[in-house]
Amino acid sequence: MIRSPSEIGGIPSEKVLEAAEKFDTPLYLYDAPFIEERCNELLGIPNAFGLTVRYAMKANSNRSILRLIVDNGLQIDASSLNEVRRAESAGISLEKIMLTTQEVPENKDRTDLEEMITRGLKYNVCSVRQLELIADFASQNKIPLSIRVHPGVGSGESSTRNTGDKYSCFGVHLTDLEEVLEYVSKKKLMFKQVHSHVGSGGDPKIWRENIDRMLNFVDEYFPDAESVSFGGGLKEARMLDEESAEVNSLGEYAHQAIEDFSKKTGRNLHMEIEPGTYIVANSGYIVSKVVDLKQTGPDGFRFVVLDAGMEMNTRPLLYGSSHPFYVVSKQGDLKQNSKEDFVVVGSCCESGDSQTLDSEGNLLLRPMPDPEIGDYVVIGGCGAYCSTMSPFNYNSHLQAQEVLFSKGDLRSIRKRQTLGQITENED
Ligand SMILES: *Cc1c(COP(=O)(O)O)cnc(C)c1O
Repeated sequence: MIRSPSEIGGIPSEKVLEAAEKFDTPLYLYDAPFIEERCNELLGIPNAFGLTVRYAMKANSNRSILRLIVDNGLQIDASSLNEVRRAESAGISLEKIMLTTQEVPENKDRTDLEEMITRGLKYNVCSVRQLELIADFASQNKIPLSIRVHPGVGSGESSTRNTGDKYSCFGVHLTDLEEVLEYVSKKKLMFKQVHSHVGSGGDPKIWRENIDRMLNFVDEYFPDAESVSFGGGLKEARMLDEESAEVNSLGEYAHQAIEDFSKKTGRNLHMEIEPGTYIVANSGYIVSKVVDLKQTGPDGFRFVVLDAGMEMNTRPLLYGSSHPFYVVSKQGDLKQNSKEDFVVVGSCCESGDSQTLDSEGNLLLRPMPDPEIGDYVVIGGCGAYCSTMSPFNYNSHLQAQEVLFSKGDLRSIRKRQTLGQITENED
């Protein structure tokens, strides 16, 4: 869904004002109906022999968001043992969680992992070492495993988000497969699922090619596999000039490929996908206040200084990503008509603390409707990789309040951190 710049998604501007007055700024505001809509859309994409949609929880791990997504029929993709623990503590059954991690669990983590696998956690083996460490346990307990294959080709919105080429090391590389399979047959292990995630927000063409490639792997190397996961990475447009992935058409492509595979081999494969961004990115907003306006000399720029910045959304600094802005007046009206160009910055002592940067870190100008001190600037596209990824305590900022807009009401789903909480573990 491409949103018109005249509305703040599905959230009325009076609700933005109400959230700011009730919980103070800065805060994250999430739109529950948007997330529900995305869950339904993904569960409805074409598939041949069944579909599981896992939500990649690293995108946004707030327990209320996790519950909302699982209540809407999705399962969970966790990228660390702590994420598994977090999801379980949110009341999500381990049977609905798969762990795909770079971690190599040792000592207590290792016993925890085995115990969680016994209770239903799915383990997606991502390296030869991980496989060797879990082999005896899995073989003795007849635990089926999943394997993440490094296909040697990937695609991402930037090279830092490409997870499939030789510059990233996620999964068991193709060239190690023969050796791994020998080991697996010696140990009497079973790979019931083959998985690959080639990057975030990449080229849909690469996504399609990945489907074909994966099915070839399954045919060639994995006679026990009953399920294939094509990973996440579905592109989501945050700005009007960006394009989202066409999930239905990707589903159709996968459907056809899995059906052709069935005709050829007699094997009916279940399909999994694990998007994060696509589900939550455009559900989330940062609500911040304009605290200062500055001009850097006659040939300089007009700066809008907000009480939120890189500590709440570091994506512009990290990737040169663009996010849409909305200006809401002190009275709660959405301001229209962008007249002048502004640079939007936060309050950190860091010249890179801007929400308008290119991928080299240069400041970009953005037309905005005349922001005044005390107005609210709402930053869109902040539901994924903002709250979970940003350096929130930099400059001793407090980890921000999170609010959910659901059934017309505003509900706190995480309180603002206190200064005492920042320092409580220091000696
Ligand atoms: C991060 C990740 C995803 C989700 O990626 P998005 O770009 O947010 O959809 C899915 N699977 C794995 C293994 C990941 O690491």
